[in-house]
Amino acid sequence: MLICAATNNAGKLKELRRILESQGHTVKSQKELGISLEPEENGATFAENARIKAEAICKASGIATVADDSGLAVDALNGAPGVYSARYCGVHGDDEANNDKLLDAMREVPAGRRGAKFVSAVCLMLPGGRSLTCMGECPGRIGFERKGTNGFGYDPLFEVEPFGWRSYAQLSDEEKDQISHRGRALAELREQLPAFLEEET
Ligand code: IMP
Repeated sequence: MLICAATNNAGKLKELRRILESQGHTVKSQKELGISLEPEENGATFAENARIKAEAICKASGIATVADDSGLAVDALNGAPGVYSARYCGVHGDDEANNDKLLDAMREVPAGRRGAKFVSAVCLMLPGGRSLTCMGECPGRIGFERKGTNGFGYDPLFEVEPFGWRSYAQLSDEEKDQISHRGRALAELREQLPAFLEEET
C-alpha cells in the first residue's frame, strides 16, 4: 500500500519508513509529497494527536496516511513529559535541551525509582475518512547519563531491560524496532490492517 508518513521529525520518519517498508508498504514522506503543514497538536492524548496529524496530512496528500504521536512518561515525574515530550524544554524539537532538562529533573531520584515508559499511538487515515489507531508501549528506566549515539530524541537516556539495560541509542535498528513503542504500535497496525481494509470493500 502507498502510505504518506505524516511527520517532519527526521528520526521518526526514518523509523516509520524502515518498519512500514519491512511490512511491504511504499512510504512517501509528507515533504516528498510537497506538504509542509505542521498541524497543531492540541489533543489531550497521544491517540487524539495522532489522529489530528493523520487527518490533516491525509486531506492534503489524498492518499492513505500514517501519523505517530509518541512520548515519554516518567513515573517519578507523574507521567511528564508525556504529550509535551517534543517541547519539554520549551522549544519544539530541541533534543539536547530536552535531555538536559530531564537529567536535571531526575537528578535526586535514586536508582530503583527511575521507571518510565515510551508510548506511541499510530493512526492510519484513509482518504474516505476511516481511521485505525493502534497503541504500543515500551517499559524502561531513565539513565543517570547519556549513553550511545544511535537514534534521536530521548534515546540516549532511555534504558531497556531486554537488551541488558542498554539505552535505545545503544541498540541496533533491528533491536530497537523489535521492542520499541513505535515498533509495537506498527506491529499491531499490521495485525489489524487486513480486517480494517476488508471493511472498506
Ligand atoms: P511528537 O509525537 O511529534 O509530539 O514528538 C514526540 C517526541 O517524543 C519526540 O520529539 C521525541 O522527543 C520523543 N520521542 C518519541 N519517540 C521517541 C523515540 O523512539 N526515541 C526518543 N525519543 C522519542
